Amino acid sequence: MKKIIFLTICCSFLFFNPLNAQKKTLIATASMMADMAENIAGDLIEIKYIVPRGQDPHLYKPTPSDVIMVQKADLIIVNGLTFEGWIAKLIDNSGSSAETVTITKGIKPIESSKYANSFDPHAWMDVNQVLTYIENIRNALIVLLPEHELIFRENHDIYAAKLKELDAFIFEEIKKIPESQRILITSHDAFAYYGRRYGLRLEAIVGISTEAEVQSSDIIRVHKVIKESNVPAIFMESTINPKILQQIAKDSDVVIGGELYADSLGDKNSPASTYLDMLRSNTITIVEGLTKKGISKSEKLETKDSINPIFLYGIFILIFILILFFIVKKLNKL
Ligand SMILES: [Zn+2]
Repeated sequence: MKKIIFLTICCSFLFFNPLNAQKKTLIATASMMADMAENIAGDLIEIKYIVPRGQDPHLYKPTPSDVIMVQKADLIIVNGLTFEGWIAKLIDNSGSSAETVTITKGIKPIESSKYANSFDPHAWMDVNQVLTYIENIRNALIVLLPEHELIFRENHDIYAAKLKELDAFIFEEIKKIPESQRILITSHDAFAYYGRRYGLRLEAIVGISTEAEVQSSDIIRVHKVIKESNVPAIFMESTINPKILQQIAKDSDVVIGGELYADSLGDKNSPASTYLDMLRSNTITIVEGLTKKGISKSEKLETKDSINPIFLYGIFILIFILILFFIVKKLNKL
């Protein structure tokens, strides 16, 4: 009996712990936005995200547990610009009345070159734009918990300083790539903001959403760019099947420069476990890949066709010895 009373007290403490009951919950759609929020909220708010790390938010299908998660949310943050096409329906199905904040509000979006009135959602790839993201997050947190305004402001300023430092680091790193090789070829068009900010030309196999089917004209276009620019490497993305990219690399005689993180953070033990690390890791991979000296097909063929000079020299000595041998033999006969 004593045991039962003890267990009941323990359970009620766990479920009705005043600290747990007080903690509000913020739900982000993607892992990188949750990480930004965590940097500002500290441990004052519980932060969760819907799309698991490594999964593609463009193609994500919400689960029944997502409905429950959204139902319990006190604040929902979304990227907007059609990044999470499924979120409105998910919020609707959950019956949640939580405030939904679009954290790209105030940024300068890139308009899609293919579709009218459609914008590129990948604005977090420009660290300078993320200053607007975190300002929107900070303001939303202050509305949610006004009593902690000072802490949110302080955390925001510390994080903003780190973002500015990262932004400067990327500019310096990109300078190491020869100007003619500042071309970034990836699976889908997630790097337009990165290219606009840091000075890289972008080419992707598919458009700004991974939902689009790969057309043979896209593959021909990418092959043409590789051939014309003599770019040494193309890049895989962590959330996208690399099959087509690997085939293009093989056919065009270029290397895969590594894996980039665009629409999700990597696992906790990956080089992209936080937003800051994700952009740092991408930059290092891009610079390493694009600073390799391009080896053209003709150069490769030349090396294959030409004969090693040491080998030629050996044959020459062998012929000379043979001639000498015959001369000596003839002289001996005389
Ligand atoms: Zn994307």
